[in-house]
Amino acid sequence: MPSDTLKPLQKKKIGIFNPKSKEKSKPRLRPSIKKDKVHPEDYLKFDTRFSCEDCSHFNSAQSICTIGYEPSHHLKAQQEHQYLLAGNMAFCRFLEID
Ligand code: SF4
Repeated sequence: MPSDTLKPLQKKKIGIFNPKSKEKSKPRLRPSIKKDKVHPEDYLKFDTRFSCEDCSHFNSAQSICTIGYEPSHHLKAQQEHQYLLAGNMAFCRFLEID
């Protein structure tokens, strides 16, 4: 019977293996933001401009991106926190410096 063969497939749980639990974690709805590794020597050696606060499109009074992107991952405090945590940063591909 076709319905009997479908039952095991329907019971099979979909998700990501979670080592802390018998249950699988729910799959992500969206992929997480891409982060680039930064060499510690480069981070210390160069005074780079890579955050929203350095960008021409940033409205600092309202803390928003004037071209509509989500600035939370690219704010200086968040980027430094991420770098200290994991040695990588989320760089905005649309950063523009005048
Ligand atoms: S373009 Fe990117 S770096 Fe510039 S304000 Fe918007 S989110 Fe921030």
